[in-house]
Amino acid sequence: LAQRLQGIPPTVFTQMSALAQRTGAVNLGQGFPDEDGPASVLERAAAALREGRNQYAPGTGVPELREAVARHQQRHHGIDLDPATEVCVTTGATEGVAAALLALVDPGDEVLLLEPWYDSYAAMVQVAGGVRRGVTLRAPDFRLDAAALEAAVTPRTRLLLLNTPHNPTGTVLTRAELEAVAEVVRRHALLVVTDEVYEHLVFDGHRHVPLATLPGMRERVLTLSSVGKSWSLTGWKVGWATGPAHLVSALLAAKQWLTFTSGAPLQPAVAHALDAEWEWPRRLAVDLQRRRDLLCEGLAAAGLEPRVPEGTYFATTDVSHLGWDDGLAFCLALPERAGVVAIPTQGFHDSPAGDHLVRWAFCKTDAVVTEGVRRLAAAE
Ligand code: PMP
Ligand code: GLN
Repeated sequence: LAQRLQGIPPTVFTQMSALAQRTGAVNLGQGFPDEDGPASVLERAAAALREGRNQYAPGTGVPELREAVARHQQRHHGIDLDPATEVCVTTGATEGVAAALLALVDPGDEVLLLEPWYDSYAAMVQVAGGVRRGVTLRAPDFRLDAAALEAAVTPRTRLLLLNTPHNPTGTVLTRAELEAVAEVVRRHALLVVTDEVYEHLVFDGHRHVPLATLPGMRERVLTLSSVGKSWSLTGWKVGWATGPAHLVSALLAAKQWLTFTSGAPLQPAVAHALDAEWEWPRRLAVDLQRRRDLLCEGLAAAGLEPRVPEGTYFATTDVSHLGWDDGLAFCLALPERAGVVAIPTQGFHDSPAGDHLVRWAFCKTDAVVTEGVRRLAAAE
């Protein structure tokens, strides 16, 4: 194995989903819904396949999807984009992260990550030759401490890789927190890549604020999102990067050698999702809020008092209250003890702050969530 990949553990999501399959446990681990996205979007994809939309799309994506992404950013966030130069379709947000880091990080450059981070960030910072610096969102409320962010900046800091709504904690950064971030970014002339794949999945009247909308940020921020979470199509792996032409063309410089272009026939269907089904994510969020409450009440009843998330479809608990100081050991024992699978998040931290934190997904049917918490309550 090449040095650039050494020391990166296999992704915990694969490990835990395999554990769920092997043991027949209720899978509250990997974040994917067990219901499909909008029927009209599935129909549009089938039609695109039959209509012969099956050869290479342009590297930046089919024009109808780039235009739909620009309309999406305008409709939901008031951001104006030129679909010709300020939008690039990616193979999921995962490719967006990879291409952005390969394009913007030189060996030795430092990259700031909110800790806990999404696992692909740490892997790709290393592949790009960068050095990560975590800024911990501390339990129990997982807020961003702007002073800690400022303190993590050094003369080698190149980039901040932000994520809000935040996986795994469920924190939705407030406008005030983002203003503090923008201040640090301006002061140190940093670049920002912001992963907003959960932009529509917010609860209780919380609002997602894209960093790109804050003063002075437009020229510095590359925003990533995808169809997977908001339209329940995680297997499609269609995402998009938006931002100033200089950052989008940098991303494309890397993307052209990773995939050249993303899958063609799904792109018209994703354009249809963004336009014709633009209200679908709002209904999903209402549904998810109910499931969040089912999960959180059930976890509390089982002695696993969660931090109630403001967004995403994950809730986090501290299992040390149950006498476990190692979240991985807790999760490995859980299928046997309770018939449930969850995600230990210690691999998403450098600091010991995450050693006993465990993440539970509620993007599952009410029946699955209810059965999961029933089993947890019944466990020894
Ligand atoms: N970023 C975050 C924070 C995620 O939780 C996920 C989950 N899949 C992704 C990126 C990946 O998105 P995609 O499936 O579009 O590659
Ligand atoms: N984003 C999802 C999660 O956090 C899926 C992860 C994955 O499949 N790599 O669970």
